[in-house]
Amino acid sequence: MTLNSSDMPNNKGYFGEYGGQIIPPPLIEIMNEIDAAYEEVRQTEAFQNELAQLYANYVGRPSPVYYAKNLSEKVGGARIFLKREDLNHTGAHKINHCIGEALLAKHMGKTKVLAETGAGQHGVALATACALVGIDCEIHMGEIDIEKEHPNVTKMKILGCKLVPVTRGTRTLKDAVDSAFEEYLKDPVTTMYAIGSVVGPHPFPKIVRDFQSIVGKEAKQQFLTTENKLPDVLIACVGGGSNAMGLFTEFLNDGSVEMIGVEPAGKGLDTDDHAATLSLGSKGAIHGFECITLQDNEGNPLPVYSIASGLDYPGVGPQHCYLRDLKRVEYVSVDDKDCLDAFMQLSRLEGIIPALESAHAVAHAMKIAPTMSSDKIILVNLSGRGDKDADFVADYLSL
Ligand SMILES: *Cc1c(COP(=O)(O)O)cnc(C)c1O
Repeated sequence: MTLNSSDMPNNKGYFGEYGGQIIPPPLIEIMNEIDAAYEEVRQTEAFQNELAQLYANYVGRPSPVYYAKNLSEKVGGARIFLKREDLNHTGAHKINHCIGEALLAKHMGKTKVLAETGAGQHGVALATACALVGIDCEIHMGEIDIEKEHPNVTKMKILGCKLVPVTRGTRTLKDAVDSAFEEYLKDPVTTMYAIGSVVGPHPFPKIVRDFQSIVGKEAKQQFLTTENKLPDVLIACVGGGSNAMGLFTEFLNDGSVEMIGVEPAGKGLDTDDHAATLSLGSKGAIHGFECITLQDNEGNPLPVYSIASGLDYPGVGPQHCYLRDLKRVEYVSVDDKDCLDAFMQLSRLEGIIPALESAHAVAHAMKIAPTMSSDKIILVNLSGRGDKDADFVADYLSL
């Protein structure tokens, strides 16, 4: 069996039994129009050239692959390499798909891009892409998150997006999603909803994956050029799963390459405070698609927790669910404590402060490297930089 992206999802938007369009019929029509426009525009040389130029000269791609020698020698065993998505403009992998989505919206003649944001990472990346492409941007964000995430809120304002505070319910991400979605339903013809990960109704898991797949394409080339072989193990953290799909996609048919997705175990899998969806969830529907979710007996999403706010999502991208069932990708979890340890070790041994999200992937690499021989290579997707987390960690650890 081969796992070609062109066969996945199928024409109904399913990866195995996951994905699809669990949305009202009028919206299905709109989603199918987005899919048709995407399939058409992405084939054109003009679109490919525009995207390639922006990746190179605006985002700063290709991002380097860096051999973390000090860290590798400290933990022993396999050599650990980092794909440096933290060096991208705006400091994380999200800009890769936000630029793609903003360009697509513009090519479709949409006048506004809409989205929700939790910690503000998706909001900032999208506001950046919209400023660049020249299209209006409206971001819905819970009042509580607005208070907590001051630097990102300020950035979004400077970048010129319209920030809509959400005052209902929990005043956090969940209600921001509902609020942004209601706004979108008022005018889905001239606006486009820009989803922040490989989640949501078809075609978004496919579109976001395709834009992120540049990460794995570059990495494969970089390893073939410098090491003359492919990495033995790929590791990425999984919230919705976009940075992980970005790294994994190009390697899915390389049988020698093992892949591991790392979910947040938070305060422990035996507590309620985690977001280890693929480890402990069951099949359900959330935000317009079918996937494994953390849900109560009535099928409502459970409150989830992670020290890394980019990972605390009670669902996960449909392709990850499918790859888990196929056993092509293994999913594990890392708790807050090991995440913080990896955060500090990478900072002090390599001078690289990782995002807390990415530190989950680093922590798992540190766990398995000593069990592997020194001729093996682990490649970690360092999805983002830790500037946003520095104050929090310093307080938390009383530095
Ligand atoms: C948002 C975010 C994540 C989680 O999102 P995925 O879609 O799972 O990749 C991971 N790392 C960073 C730095 C983020 O900002």
